Amino acid sequence: MKAPRFAYARPASVAEALALLDKHKDDARVLAGGQSLVPMLNFRVAAPKVLVDINRINALSGIKVTKTYVRIGALVRHVELERSTDVAKHLPLVAAAVPHIAHPAIRNRGTFGGSCALADPAAELPACALALGATFVIAGRKGERRVAAEDFFKGLYATALKPGELLVAAEFPLPGPGDRSAFGELARRHGDYAMVGVAAHGSKKELRAAFFGVGDRPEIVEADSVEGVLSKTASLEARADLHASAATKLHLAKVLAGRVLSQLQ
Ligand SMILES: Cc1cc2nc3c(=O)[nH]c(=O)nc-3n(C[C@H](O)[C@H](O)[C@H](O)COP(=O)(O)OP(=O)(O)OC[C@H]3O[C@@H](n4cnc5c(N)ncnc54)[C@H](O)[C@@H]3O)c2cc1C
Repeated sequence: MKAPRFAYARPASVAEALALLDKHKDDARVLAGGQSLVPMLNFRVAAPKVLVDINRINALSGIKVTKTYVRIGALVRHVELERSTDVAKHLPLVAAAVPHIAHPAIRNRGTFGGSCALADPAAELPACALALGATFVIAGRKGERRVAAEDFFKGLYATALKPGELLVAAEFPLPGPGDRSAFGELARRHGDYAMVGVAAHGSKKELRAAFFGVGDRPEIVEADSVEGVLSKTASLEARADLHASAATKLHLAKVLAGRVLSQLQ
C-alpha cells in the first residue's frame, strides 16, 4: 500500500522544527530515518497530515566526547555508531549492540533518536541508554529539558516526550576505570528484533543490566554482584508477544542473563 497524502516540511533549525510541530500539533509527525515511520504510513498505522523532516538540522547530528560524557545527536545513524572510534573506545556496549539492529540498509538510514523516540520494547539502543545511565536532551517551545533514561521509557512505544517536543541528543557518562560491558540477545534470525536481550554495564560492585524484549519497555535490574542481578531476574515484568509466552520470555531472559553476565566476571 502507498502512504496516505501528507504535506511535507523540511526545517533547517530546531527552532523552525518546533514552530512547525507547535503549529500543526497532533497533525504533525517528525520524520528522521523513516525506517519505522514510512512502513507505518504505508500500512496506514499512522496518518499524519504533515511530516516534519529533521534530516537537514545540523544541530541534531554528531558524536561529541567531553570530559564527562559522550553526546550522541538524535540524527546520528546506526551506521555512524557502528563505525565510530569514540563509541568503540568509550561506549563499547553501544558498539556491541548496533550490529544486532536490523540490516545494513536500515542501519544506514535509521537514527539513534528515532529508535529511542519510537521506544520499541525489543530495541537495542534504549536498553543501552538505560544500562549506561544516559540522560536525554529534549527541546520544546519553552526551552530544553533533561530526562534520565530511567524516566524516559514509559511503556509500549511510549516515552516522556510531550506533544510538540523534539529529542535532540543523549548524554552518556564516560565509564569509570574498571567498568565493563557485555551484550547479548536471542533472535530468530540475525537482524530481527530480539525475542529477549540483555545490555549490562558496571563494575564488580555495581552492576546494571537492562533487559529488552521482555516487558513493555526496557527494564533495569541493579545489584552489587552478578548473582544479585541473576536472582532479581525472576521478578522481571515479562509479557507475551508474537514470539513467545511471558513464561518462556522470563526463562530465556534468565538463561541469557547468565551467559551475558558471566562475561563480566
Ligand atoms: C525490517 C526492519 C527491522 C528492524 N529491526 C530492528 C532491530 O532489530 N532493532 C531495532 O532497534 N530497530 C530495528 N528496526 C527499526 C530501526 O532501528 C529504525 O531505524 C528505528 O526504529 C527508527 O529510527 P528512524 O530514524 O528510522 O525513525 P523514524 O522511522 O523516522 O521515526 C520513528 C518515530 O520516532 C519519531 N522520531 C524520530 N526522531 C525523533 C526525534 N528526534 N524527536 C522526536 N521524535 C522523533 C517519529 O516521529 C516516529 O514516530 C527495524 C526496522 C525495520 C524496517
